[in-house]
Amino acid sequence: MKTDEGITGFGWVRGGADVLATVLSLKDVVVGRDPYEYEKIWSLMYRPKITGRKGLGIRAVSCIDIALWDIMGKAARQPVYKLLGGYTQKLPAYIAGGYYEDSKGIEGLIEEMLKNVDMGAKAVKMKIGKLLIKEDLKRIEVVRKAIGPDVKLMIDANNAYTPSDAIEMARGSEAYDVYWFEEPVHPDDLPGLKRVAQKSNIRIATGENEYTAFGFRELLINDTVDVINPDAHYCGGITEWKKIADLARVFNVQVAPHGSQQLHCHLLASISNGLILEYYPPNTNPILGGQMFEEFLPYENGFVSPPDRPGLGFELNRDFMKQYLISQVS
Ligand SMILES: [Mg+2]
Repeated sequence: MKTDEGITGFGWVRGGADVLATVLSLKDVVVGRDPYEYEKIWSLMYRPKITGRKGLGIRAVSCIDIALWDIMGKAARQPVYKLLGGYTQKLPAYIAGGYYEDSKGIEGLIEEMLKNVDMGAKAVKMKIGKLLIKEDLKRIEVVRKAIGPDVKLMIDANNAYTPSDAIEMARGSEAYDVYWFEEPVHPDDLPGLKRVAQKSNIRIATGENEYTAFGFRELLINDTVDVINPDAHYCGGITEWKKIADLARVFNVQVAPHGSQQLHCHLLASISNGLILEYYPPNTNPILGGQMFEEFLPYENGFVSPPDRPGLGFELNRDFMKQYLISQVS
């Protein structure tokens, strides 16, 4: 997005051509406005009857809102985390991964986790939910043994379970000192999530598939969650993410944003109830881990710092991303 003063703001989101079409449909709402009127622009873009309260519509709103904050930071010559509150410059960050891959096996999983610990990780996350519960418990057991007792271990089911299976998994994994159990059930199954939370002793984390502060209000008032994982690319951009974090603060719930370390390092660094950042090293996810940007976000001994460059401080590596271009608009 370009301003009349020649500042370019960079917003990005998953969703391909469908999201792009919605972004373009919002052009008339945004063009000609002052980016500092981000609250006004957000409320003009958010049209529940037309654009949709959840899903692709709000992702398009998010993308534009992120670009607005990049513009504001560049215009003010300040990094976004300072515009938002500048709470800290040092963030604990866990390494995400532990994906299922055909050729990986238990040995590959152990190798990956040990590599993470060698990088200085003090917390790691692995996937569960694709295999039988007893097989996944075995995977958790070997990872716990490999990383030792001092590294935090999170498990992420990506909505794989029914509530009763999730409760069985939660209880089974208690023996391996699991720090949080992420997305145990379908994102719309709030009663099921509440049952899981009540019947297990592990922290429940969720929210990467939740949208706007209204959605998070339901998670919080229903006492279903210990940690929320809002993603500013999905939940309504930086403007709405900050409101969600503030809402969680009054429930004394901590925030651990989902993915996108280049964006969320700024957001997590701006709030008082931040818990930990999700970090993808280049070997786990080459594109999101760094290739799509001209700059790299270093991981140092379990911590990450938001860049002190103006705006978000990450520009698209256009040469690299050219191979994925689906259309170009002015
Ligand atoms: Mg997840």
